[in-house]
Amino acid sequence: MKKTDSVKAFHLRFGSHQLVEPFKQFIEKVLAPKGINQLIIECNTSFVFEKHPEITEGTLTKQDAREIADVCKRHGIRVIPLFQCLGHQGWGGAPNSLLKAYPEFDETPHIPLDAKWPDFFCRSWCPLHPEINALAFDLLGEIIDAFDADAMHVGMDEVYALADDQCPRCKGKERGELFAKAINDLHGYLVKERGVQMYMWADRLNDSEATGYNRWEGDTFGTHKAISAIPTDIVLMDWHYDPLDSYPSIGIFLEKGFSVIPSCWYKTEAAVDFLKESKRQAVETSEPDRLLGMAVTSWNGWNQEAFEKFIHLTSSSFTREEELGELDELYRTLDVITKELS
Ligand SMILES: [Zn+2]
Repeated sequence: MKKTDSVKAFHLRFGSHQLVEPFKQFIEKVLAPKGINQLIIECNTSFVFEKHPEITEGTLTKQDAREIADVCKRHGIRVIPLFQCLGHQGWGGAPNSLLKAYPEFDETPHIPLDAKWPDFFCRSWCPLHPEINALAFDLLGEIIDAFDADAMHVGMDEVYALADDQCPRCKGKERGELFAKAINDLHGYLVKERGVQMYMWADRLNDSEATGYNRWEGDTFGTHKAISAIPTDIVLMDWHYDPLDSYPSIGIFLEKGFSVIPSCWYKTEAAVDFLKESKRQAVETSEPDRLLGMAVTSWNGWNQEAFEKFIHLTSSSFTREEELGELDELYRTLDVITKELS
């Protein structure tokens, strides 16, 4: 990893017109001073789509996106919008707006609306439905245009509803092949047609057996086989939020030719350990420069209070050893990791 141009990324879910002003303040007063240079904005179906208003279930407008992008540009921050593709089309059995508007795209329409984990995680769209890509590309295209983005994150973590026995198109098919097809279709649009860089979460590409990862951080159903059937110009964001004995996926992805951004959450010591171990593995591979940096992810609901809290915290607010609540610790991790990468 080249220290001077390391990726220092921050991820958050954001889709609210009402919170655009505090969000802009958060970018200017927290993220930019900390040296964050990539901002992954997960807007999903909260974006106000003009071509597909039936998909919109939030309030983030095209104008909001442009204003946020302008603030980021002024501070040298690359904006990478995120729209969850394939999986995470709702929560539990409850469909999101996309599957409500187009129930024919649902991979598992037979699952009850009130299904809950551990019976069912969440819905996916069917990667073989002949009309899904046209819709997905419209949505991704609108978001890219609104943020004037040169990269797009397609999500694709935790996809468990795939190759369902009752899907007339996918029944009996290899999960790895279906997952690769979905990735390659999106790559065809984003990279080949639109000329933007493609990012995705890496958990479904980790072979749980080979890496020792659990079923969340790794795959136990066969999607990992897609790794040898997808382009290596996709940036893989490999997330591990708790300290592990080892993180072998970093070396595996680098050796296969991918660029990787290890991604942590709020736990400071876990993040520091993961970064240190990633750097060690990068040095052992022939292409250490493809370990791009690190991303700090956040999974709390951001509201005015949370943005303001961060604006008022400083590097000296906490010691490294102190026990903290999630938001305080997230701030400390952001502070520590950006310093480690500078
Ligand atoms: Zn299907």
